[in-house]
Amino acid sequence: MDFIKIKDFVKTNNLPAYRLNQIRQGIFVDGFAAWRDIKTLPKNLQEALNKNFKILSFDLVKLQSSKLDKVYKALLKLYDGPKIETVLMKPGKFWSVCVSSQAGCPLGCAFCATGKLGFKRNLTAEEISDQVLFWHQFLQKEFKGERVSNIVFMGMGEPLLNYVEVKKAVEILSNKDYLNIGKRHISISTSGIADKFENLAKELPQVNLALSLHNADNKERSTLMPINRKYNLDIIKQELENYLKLNAREVFLEYTVIDGENNSPAHIRKLGKWINSFKDNYLLHVNLIACNPATSKAKTPPIAAVYAFAEALEKMNIKATVRKSLGSDISAACGQLAAKN
Ligand code: SF4
Repeated sequence: MDFIKIKDFVKTNNLPAYRLNQIRQGIFVDGFAAWRDIKTLPKNLQEALNKNFKILSFDLVKLQSSKLDKVYKALLKLYDGPKIETVLMKPGKFWSVCVSSQAGCPLGCAFCATGKLGFKRNLTAEEISDQVLFWHQFLQKEFKGERVSNIVFMGMGEPLLNYVEVKKAVEILSNKDYLNIGKRHISISTSGIADKFENLAKELPQVNLALSLHNADNKERSTLMPINRKYNLDIIKQELENYLKLNAREVFLEYTVIDGENNSPAHIRKLGKWINSFKDNYLLHVNLIACNPATSKAKTPPIAAVYAFAEALEKMNIKATVRKSLGSDISAACGQLAAKN
């Protein structure tokens, strides 16, 4: 929903200012999914709003819930046809939403189901922020009073290839008139579009940055993530050093552990060496996650091997956390979003 347009509508129709507050309360607090449900508004205004504005910029095609974890996945159809997916999860006490920033993705990472779809188009800021509004509506219906606390740009697409709309979406989502989600609770995960790191440091300094690393060897990383041919580890390091100089905040290095491909002692040593070559290496934190079998090639490692990986990094004075993969039974885990019906 474009709230600016609603504000203009209220103004141009000379409606009293309290109508805007009633709309805000109905949509962003109570989470109503239809204008007619906002009972504080007179019927003629409900009808006028219904005629002029859609609350969400897409239609729900399918909603799935995990039997294993508190995870829900929605397949959404954009108005011009492409489908995207978004995920709601509760890994601990708080609800997090994983949003998509593109329909499909042009980068074709070997381990990722989205990459296999190819690229359809960039999402608008409204389509991105509406994914969170969609889950807000869901929570008010199913878990009255609970709210989305965190947002991660880890769904379909590479957010930094759609930087302008992603930045706008962050501003919308953190706006106190909208869902009021603090920027420190928003994370952007990138495959390494390094020439945008400086923009992030200067324009969105409070937003968390996560780099999908997955391999510290240039040749192997290029096989896994073809974008490494353009932004290789040397370029990423240079731009990340600059980012840390401008914005001394922890950066997360996401490392999907693929058994037999990136978890040998030599891989771990190379990763440790790369991280410890940074001037501000203490600001880098590795998140290890066992890969999901989204593609037939990727093998999931035993969880003990992932913990051993973390221990080996800690011995090199590198902070490392093992993350649990959630929602794999509904293909809602990292790398599994494929917008299948
Ligand atoms: S991992 Fe991310 S960047 Fe790579 S293909 Fe999948 S969606 Fe695109």
